[in-house]
Amino acid sequence: MLLDLLVPARCLGCRDPGPVPFCPDCADELDPDGTVHPLGDGIATVGAFAYAHPLSTAIKATKSGGLRQAADALARLLVLPTAVPVTWVPAPRSRRRRRGVDLPERLAGPDGIRLLERVGRPVEQPDLDARQRLDAQDGTFRATRRLDGPIVLVDDVRATGATLLAAATTLRAAGASRVLGVTLAAAGGPPSAGRRPRRTGARRGPGSTAASAPTS
Ligand SMILES: [Zn+2]
Repeated sequence: MLLDLLVPARCLGCRDPGPVPFCPDCADELDPDGTVHPLGDGIATVGAFAYAHPLSTAIKATKSGGLRQAADALARLLVLPTAVPVTWVPAPRSRRRRRGVDLPERLAGPDGIRLLERVGRPVEQPDLDARQRLDAQDGTFRATRRLDGPIVLVDDVRATGATLLAAATTLRAAGASRVLGVTLAAAGGPPSAGRRPRRTGARRGPGSTAASAPTS
């Protein structure tokens, strides 16, 4: 953390000396999103920006470098609803130890409340489709207390939406009346988790044929 203070401020997009998180040129390149996607069962999600350079560059650098000040600078890009409790999708413990900063926690801000914890090991099985990955992640989270009323759930990036949906479902099961998943960045279009298989990037290998195609 001391290193953060000694190194001159650099834009997290282009690395030029300048304001953090972004110099004016990179800030101009940000692609605001803001589309709310209902996921059913009282759960919806919205991404503040599209997952693209310079934001994707900044998120990767912040996470891989464990840059706490960068994380807090990125948090300033995220406008969270007020008067609703805010929590976050906790990073897997092993990853948090390695990186020293939990970006979703920093994005949730100083008023964020820890309501979820990881149980078991993160499931990373690229040969599964989105729905099966979601099933495999069931039970990945546990609520730390009983809840009521609406909750804002913060994460850094929404890809398929599977992780966000698993975390939101856990909050609903613990009593949250509604959950709005707010991510700093959202990749692609509407979340596909639990809707339809997403084939892109799936590894074709032994055993993957059984992991395909819903029957209806
Ligand atoms: Zn820049």
